[in-house]
Amino acid sequence: MYKAVTNLLAERGVTLPQIAEVVLEIQKGYYPELTIEECLAGVDAVVRKREVQHAILTGVALDVAAEKKQLPEPLQSIVASDDFLFGVDEIVALSITNVYGSIGLTNFGYLDKTKPLIIGKLNDHKGGACHTFLDDLVAAVAAAAASKIAHSRRPMDND
Ligand code: MG
Repeated sequence: MYKAVTNLLAERGVTLPQIAEVVLEIQKGYYPELTIEECLAGVDAVVRKREVQHAILTGVALDVAAEKKQLPEPLQSIVASDDFLFGVDEIVALSITNVYGSIGLTNFGYLDKTKPLIIGKLNDHKGGACHTFLDDLVAAVAAAAASKIAHSRRPMDND
């Protein structure tokens, strides 16, 4: 399933190294010596979790169905227009941020607001693509990976 998920993300224009760049961006202020390799390892560990894979498969399936105009109305219009009153995309993504504790939620809120790098690109909705769920899923994976790094660097967690 890991392979299916990473292939699906790639088809939708997102690679794990791009998500790792987001992690580095939000964590380098706290850990100046943090490397992109360490960030990528964190992202990879998050994407290997079953509940994370389920969230990605669910959200991306809805994005793709909306692009193909296959959702029933009024859901079709809501998802296709990324209606700001629609919060289910964020709720699905929250099942990802939960996997490494509450720091994930803080990081997710920050990424949802600032939309750096690939998250901002996804949010542009260029060329008729629908990324209503994907931008939140990517922010959540980055937030969870950042939390994992933060936890692993607390000395008490290492013994
Ligand atoms: Mg969204």
